[in-house]
Amino acid sequence: MLERLRQELSTLMLIPGLSGHEDRVRRHIAACLQVDGIDSRADRLGNLIATFDGDAEAPSVMVFAHMDQLGFIVRKIDDDGLIRVERMGGVPERALASQAVLCCVAEGKDVPGIIMNKAHHATTPDEKYQVVHAPDLMIDTGHGSKAAVQAVGIAIGTPIVYRPHVLPLAGTRVAGTSIDDRAGCTVLLELARKLAKRKSGPTVHLVWSVLEEFNLRGAVVAAQNLDPDIAIQIDLMLATDTPDMADRGDMRLGKGPGISLYSFHGRGTLNGVIPHPSAVRLMEKAAKRAKLNLQRSAQVGVLTDLSYVQLLGEGVVSIDVGFPMRHSHSSLEVCDLSDLAGLTTLLETALADVDKNFPLNRNGPD
Ligand SMILES: [Zn+2]
Repeated sequence: MLERLRQELSTLMLIPGLSGHEDRVRRHIAACLQVDGIDSRADRLGNLIATFDGDAEAPSVMVFAHMDQLGFIVRKIDDDGLIRVERMGGVPERALASQAVLCCVAEGKDVPGIIMNKAHHATTPDEKYQVVHAPDLMIDTGHGSKAAVQAVGIAIGTPIVYRPHVLPLAGTRVAGTSIDDRAGCTVLLELARKLAKRKSGPTVHLVWSVLEEFNLRGAVVAAQNLDPDIAIQIDLMLATDTPDMADRGDMRLGKGPGISLYSFHGRGTLNGVIPHPSAVRLMEKAAKRAKLNLQRSAQVGVLTDLSYVQLLGEGVVSIDVGFPMRHSHSSLEVCDLSDLAGLTTLLETALADVDKNFPLNRNGPD
């Protein structure tokens, strides 16, 4: 499974798909599903949905991962052809200088550029340790004039992403762009193939969702429509096995998939997920049965669209499940393929365990 995961993740990482502009990613995933004879459909926002019908008496499950990535939107093109941008999503400003980017004009017509960085020889002692704020960033495509930039199709509103790239590291580690959350999309693809072959189980909707990095609400539209009893969200878990993160938890790269027991984001959105105890037990039992090490996360500062999905209808039994990842939202995120394989097995095992006796209420033991 590792080689296929490597192949598919790499392919998905190389397809640009800024929030609100996920269409190329969706087309690719739909085509992959079709190859395996799996039908899928898209809603008006662009969420891609594949449904595997199952036991009508068992609770239905929605498992989802977001296709979109963060980046920039062109705000203005200066007369000298330099491009000003707005950030889209949680772009880390201190990791931006000298980055290569891709202006997404149209498939086959994308235009490379660079985020400019003042010549070091002219940098004053004051400037040396300063981070340039996003509104002051300039992107150079080399065209030299506004007219030339416009002539290649770049306009106000054009999406820009980090130049998509994959950098295989030692062993099963992979670095590159938008591992958040193309790794989740890859796991869902692998899961789809397993669900297509299963003999029994609950109805499962796999959703490759949109707009997570923008407003965390794309998956809400799919959930509203599908009305699942259980929602499982697949995304990164903050790896804390580096010196700069050591105090924040115990989530290690290569040590298996993880579940989140607590997430909260207080800046503006005031939301998070405290998972339903039945969902936690489901994952713990599945990990034990599949002989997987299950890691645990509790973090303030992270938020996924599950926060909003859990609040629909009479409440959705929800849990965030994921893979450890380093350097989130930079152009060189890092994950370990073995964790993606473990995550796939965990989900397959857990889903097989959802039957009509699954406790959706809160009357079970603590
Ligand atoms: Zn994500």
